[in-house]
Amino acid sequence: MHRDTWMEIDLDAVCDNVRRIKEICGKRIIAVVKANAYGCGDRQVAEACIDAGAEMLAVSSLDEALILRNEGIRCAILIVGTTNPQDAQVMAGYKISAAAYSPEWVDALVQTDCAGLRVHLKMDTGMNRIGFQTIDQLQEAYKKLNDAGCIIEGIFTHFSCSDSDPAFTDAQYARFKEAVESLPEKPEWIHCDNSDATVSFKDPLSNACRLGVSLYGVSSFLDDLKHPLALYSRLSMVKTVPAGQKVGYGATYETKEDEIIATMPIGYADGFIRANQGRMVYINGKYCEVVGRVCMDQTMLKLPEYMPTGTAAEIFGPHIPLEKMAEELHTIPYEIICLITMRVTRVYRRGGKRYLIKNDRMTLSEL
Ligand SMILES: *Cc1c(COP(=O)(O)O)cnc(C)c1O
Repeated sequence: MHRDTWMEIDLDAVCDNVRRIKEICGKRIIAVVKANAYGCGDRQVAEACIDAGAEMLAVSSLDEALILRNEGIRCAILIVGTTNPQDAQVMAGYKISAAAYSPEWVDALVQTDCAGLRVHLKMDTGMNRIGFQTIDQLQEAYKKLNDAGCIIEGIFTHFSCSDSDPAFTDAQYARFKEAVESLPEKPEWIHCDNSDATVSFKDPLSNACRLGVSLYGVSSFLDDLKHPLALYSRLSMVKTVPAGQKVGYGATYETKEDEIIATMPIGYADGFIRANQGRMVYINGKYCEVVGRVCMDQTMLKLPEYMPTGTAAEIFGPHIPLEKMAEELHTIPYEIICLITMRVTRVYRRGGKRYLIKNDRMTLSEL
């Protein structure tokens, strides 16, 4: 790692979160590691979750599932997103389960050699994204897939308001229950809960929970989860700038007096978006303002006092919760971490120490 900008991922804390949530819900855990585990590294997060007791992984596409298989992950993998029915044999061959989500998908699938493919029936219960819209469609799909030799391994739905609207969730659940009960046989995996529903919504029907963001300690309902993620950079130049000078592109900031202006090597090409202008980062006990426009690769700060080059700056982490940063940027924690780009080196902690420093854009010998 030659650039002083990195993301820390404490896999011990991820494991603790899996165990804690499993204890609360008492159900099997499906770790949702789509989008490279929300930017945190799908292989590393998947391995930690499996070690902590997760029994299945969920991803959004066949490509994401194959990436995990290529990395040696042998655990059950479910694609919760859409797939091409033509890829049935690839999925079956790699023991990857697919979501069956529309009459059209089912009709196209059963035209192919799909025997042995594991499917989870996806019921749309109110989100109107993917899934069967009626019980008739669901039953028809069950029959066609069964006749074609598919293994109907599961049924699931997805809640759209588990953090905000319990009545809406109740209505979605009622639809889901009706759907499950309409099947001739209960599949092995019945799941409807995302992170927030896993701890806030109890039901006697589902037997597995899909955890995504709560792996990283983000929850609307639990405040005792661990916080495994942090993003850091370091001061690369520190100087005094006289009063009345401008800082950054567009000269949007003017020093009011002699000010200590520092630069750090993080910018919007790292996922540190331009909207961070005016926000604070945490350095050595002090909150320091981002002044001037965030550049592609660098950002300027106003320091309240002199600090030496090389001092670490926390973008989010122990002193600036990810949730606070998200709120200030009018977004959600998911988006902040997904936007941290491949250029940022990932530093993994395990067993209480740094165990892997990884940058997918560089070979190991370069690190
Ligand atoms: C992303 C996703 C999840 C995980 O959601 P979190 O809120 O991060 O727990 C669960 N199920 C489906 C279908 C998803 O797409």
